[in-house]
Amino acid sequence: MIQLHDKQFVPFISANEIAEAIDKMAAEVTADLGTEIPVFIGVLNGSFMVVSDFMKAYKGACELSFIKMASYEGTSSTEEVKQLIGLNQDLTGRTVVIIEDIVDTGNTLVEIKALFEARNIKELKIATLFYKPEAYKKDIKIDYVGIAIPNKFIVGFGLDYDGHGRNLSEVYQLKE
Ligand code: 5GP
Repeated sequence: MIQLHDKQFVPFISANEIAEAIDKMAAEVTADLGTEIPVFIGVLNGSFMVVSDFMKAYKGACELSFIKMASYEGTSSTEEVKQLIGLNQDLTGRTVVIIEDIVDTGNTLVEIKALFEARNIKELKIATLFYKPEAYKKDIKIDYVGIAIPNKFIVGFGLDYDGHGRNLSEVYQLKE
């Protein structure tokens, strides 16, 4: 068990399981995209670890960029989602693959999708390491899911609780 600020967290997903899930996603994306040169878009801050491991596992030619969004305060989702750092490269005709750390309600995905709708891209695909099916309220298709998890708050592997816990190499769940 670990303590972050005022809350306790218990071990939930091992570093090995995470590595396997990322390898599986990278293999699926490779199989789907063939010779296409995708632009991967990491959603900061939480996705930095999954993007790093995903890029190492992806063997084809590819490009990478980041956007920064925020929707969480503490351990519950706020409805408002803001884009903090934008994209400035030309994506006309490109296949874009969003790489998320976690999809919860889907509010962030709606905002992200809107960002790319105006950009005349060829195709938008969504990959997420963690996905909470019970919390997901949108109808945007999630193309690649690493691990589906129950509707509980997690930290580690890039995910934080009020700024702490991002450096943990495995995932912990909030102790009820
Ligand atoms: P959504 O907009 O889908 O509700 O939430 C997506 C964002 O909320 C994620 O990118 C992540 O920053 C944050 N988030 C959602 N669930 C969790 C969780 O269980 N733990 C942490 N640390 N962040 C979460």
